[in-house]
Amino acid sequence: MIAFVGIGANLGDARGNVVDALARLGAQPGCRLAAASRLWRTAPVDSSGDDYINAVAQLDTSLDAHALLAALQAIELQHGRERPYRNAPRTLDLDLLLYGDETITTADLAVPHPRMHERAFVLAPLLEIAPDAVIPGLGRAAGFLPSVAGQAIARLD
Ligand code: AMP
Repeated sequence: MIAFVGIGANLGDARGNVVDALARLGAQPGCRLAAASRLWRTAPVDSSGDDYINAVAQLDTSLDAHALLAALQAIELQHGRERPYRNAPRTLDLDLLLYGDETITTADLAVPHPRMHERAFVLAPLLEIAPDAVIPGLGRAAGFLPSVAGQAIARLD
């Protein structure tokens, strides 16, 4: 199965944390890192603190969606993420954006990620590695770029 994972960090060595997350994703049993976007810098949305560093990873995985979510949460914990309050700044945030063309709605997992089409920091790196990506139920991811054009985002070299 092809899955896309959104990566974000805005605490500590945010850039290092994102790079490390990419390596850890690729090292998960049952996961292969098929593609990684470059790093992007964005202003916080629904959050606070410093700018975020964001990236998107494409995984080729044999894990089911819930097992993949558990793997993402384990990596977050390895980065010492604490949740003192909702949308607090975070050392590392991993979101399961797309899992094949599946739509999943359970208590602990919503795929496609419900807000991904509203966020430039998801769409820009996603489209960098998957220009034809389709969001199940919504259509081509590229179609949402104009509506997020006002969000400040810049690619790091
Ligand atoms: P957040 O604090 O934004 O990382 O949200 C984490 C919570 O969102 C966890 O309790 C997850 O179970 C839930 N969640 C629901 N859908 C997703 C998804 N597609 N990717 C990651 N977390 C999800």
